Amino acid sequence: LRNRRNSRMVHGMALLVQKFGGSSVGTIERIQHVARRVAKYKEAGHQLVVVVSAMQGETDRLLGLAGKLSESPEPREVDQLLATGEQASAALLAMALQTMGIHARSMTGHQMKVMTDGAFSRARIKNLDGAGMREYLNDGEVIVATGFQGIDDSGNITTLGRGGSDTSAVALAVGLDADECIIFTDVDGVYTADPRICPKAKKIDQICFEEMMEMASLGSKVLQIRSVELAMNHGMPLRVRSTFSDDEGTLVTTENDSIEKLVVRGVSHSTQDAKFTLRRVPDQPGVASSIFLSLARAGLNVDVIVQNTSREGTTDVSFTVAQTDALEAENLMKEISLDIGAESIEVDSNIAKVSIVGVGMRAHAGVAAEMFDALKVGGINIQMITTSEIKVTVVIEEKDCAAAVQCLHEAFQLAGEQSEKPQDRVSA
Ligand code: ADP
Ligand code: ASP
Ligand code: MG
Repeated sequence: LRNRRNSRMVHGMALLVQKFGGSSVGTIERIQHVARRVAKYKEAGHQLVVVVSAMQGETDRLLGLAGKLSESPEPREVDQLLATGEQASAALLAMALQTMGIHARSMTGHQMKVMTDGAFSRARIKNLDGAGMREYLNDGEVIVATGFQGIDDSGNITTLGRGGSDTSAVALAVGLDADECIIFTDVDGVYTADPRICPKAKKIDQICFEEMMEMASLGSKVLQIRSVELAMNHGMPLRVRSTFSDDEGTLVTTENDSIEKLVVRGVSHSTQDAKFTLRRVPDQPGVASSIFLSLARAGLNVDVIVQNTSREGTTDVSFTVAQTDALEAENLMKEISLDIGAESIEVDSNIAKVSIVGVGMRAHAGVAAEMFDALKVGGINIQMITTSEIKVTVVIEEKDCAAAVQCLHEAFQLAGEQSEKPQDRVSA
């Protein structure tokens, strides 16, 4: 599949899907800048589907308005409301292109028949109308597509979760069998850590899907996790690059020999979680299952879990959930703690999750120990730990987040000095 794509690229006209994020279309001037960029590709003879997010801050603004009316507005209406942000920026970009003499047509999720399940605010795309869009493309039109939205089987507007326009772009690229999918954003590509809190972060030229997926799921919001998952499942390479520079950006692709296998590829962080602790829970069979079944039944994702050793027949159980789920989780835990006889519940939102990620960890022992040592030297206290094959995550106090990211970035020499320490490389 990839070979075919490459050969089509070389021999002229290609079908390109390009996504521009909120900051790239944040003002009228920026929309005009995007239009000029798109026009260049169009003039080179390519077919183009341009996916846009809402103008920067718009989704939050709309959520704020809803919040003024209700603490828990109807999910259907929230999606109905939020989808307007993308509709506005798509129409504006189409107008900007038209003023430059380019045939452009904005299309909503409904018009592209982006069919999703009915899970408002976190819907998943099932399929879309590639054939219909191809007709417009063959007529020479640039399609400006609204990201982030689709419709369910009953025709309700659905949205794909924060950052979901990335996923729209990948779904359109896959559905149209595009030659290239480029995510244009406000940074030069995927970095070894969030450049906003780690000034020494370095751009990564190539990264494999697995590492990118792990980083995205651990807080590196440069790509929505679902977009990476979809791209991986369909072998659709992604390029992440800046709207405001000519840097080639980062290629996210299948693991291959030209991608260096570093032990640690990057450091991710998130301050969007809350930690629950149930104190003095009776230490007996069935207790953990009661707690976590009730959360699972409500569809709440639990991340890090720690159970302390038993003292006097009781134990403390801690876990983290997304802050957006904290209220619901707290209500559930109040009920459950009566059933199981927990002494108290503590909720702490002042936490950060900091993780190191790298496929090279599979073949390398002692990485977690090195991480804990670096945090010790930095004077940072660890509250919880969890590991998997290619990541180690710690939960720490929120105020230590930036320091922890910088200290791990330094300890694993991610700013580029790796070559001086060959023992940090994986040989195979
Ligand atoms: P867009 O509006 O274009 O979708 P986002 O704000 O969703 O942009 O994503 C880009 C932001 O992601 C960057 O400005 C950066 O602060 C943040 N980010 C977090 N981790 C990383 C990382 N590892 N590499 C690059 N950017 C990152
Ligand atoms: N506008 C949506 C958001 O702010 C989707 C996106 O930007 O990708 O999350
Ligand atoms: Mg985004």
